[in-house]
Amino acid sequence: MTQPVLKLAKVIVDFSGFKAINQLDFSVQPNRVHFVIGPNGAGKTTLLDVICGKTRATQGNIQLHGKRELSKMSENQIVHQGIARKFQAPSIFPQLKVIENLEIAMKQKKGLFSILRAKWTKQEKDKIEEMLNLIGLEKVRNELAGSLAHGQKQWLEIAMVLIQEPDIILLDEPIAGMSKKERDKTGELITQIAKERAVLIVEHDMDFVKEYADVVTVMHEGQLLFEGSMEQVQNNSKVREVYLGR
Ligand code: ADP
Repeated sequence: MTQPVLKLAKVIVDFSGFKAINQLDFSVQPNRVHFVIGPNGAGKTTLLDVICGKTRATQGNIQLHGKRELSKMSENQIVHQGIARKFQAPSIFPQLKVIENLEIAMKQKKGLFSILRAKWTKQEKDKIEEMLNLIGLEKVRNELAGSLAHGQKQWLEIAMVLIQEPDIILLDEPIAGMSKKERDKTGELITQIAKERAVLIVEHDMDFVKEYADVVTVMHEGQLLFEGSMEQVQNNSKVREVYLGR
């Protein structure tokens, strides 16, 4: 097995005596579409929160590429280490064009120098073009982002996260509210993204997980209950008992 991109060891997140994450050992490999599932309250959101630094681990270690320790870093520092999260609600700039949204995301990555500089380098232009193609919005590049369909807004935001070139992208229910067509396109997009980086997704839609997962982690009561392919998950008796209720 290759070295994990991210490794959590014995992580605890304690909210005033309640352990939302309890001694969790968990790792994320590169080039995998990795889903986290589990019943409500299992600790899935807290897992994403603790990885991106929104919530601090009470105990344990979170390592990136086997060396950089993230558990003591701020949310901002963690983003700069290469972990990016897209939340459920879109946070695009609706009054700006699609392409301008991508340019802003690019500027965030490049920092102050690029804001002062009027022109884009060839490399930067190519990257923006690559993103437009990846999300299939090249024809609507000059439309206002606010006028896009729900799915298109979500893809734009994924591209805004990707343009920062993270090692891991964390997604929170990326297909919520999408039509069947949008859902399929999102699945293809995620598969494409995983060719270059690690993708960790919290998802409730089991059909979607079944279709696109390389690895599925089942959480229960802040712990890892089982991990494997979706087929293994579905056939596991512990999972059936606590998660599927049979
Ligand atoms: P999931 O995403 O799997 O539904 P969460 O990670 O949101 O689960 O929550 C796990 C448990 O931790 C739940 O019982 C929830 O009520 C609790 N919890 C989450 N955040 C907090 C918090 N800030 N303070 C206290 N309890 C919390």
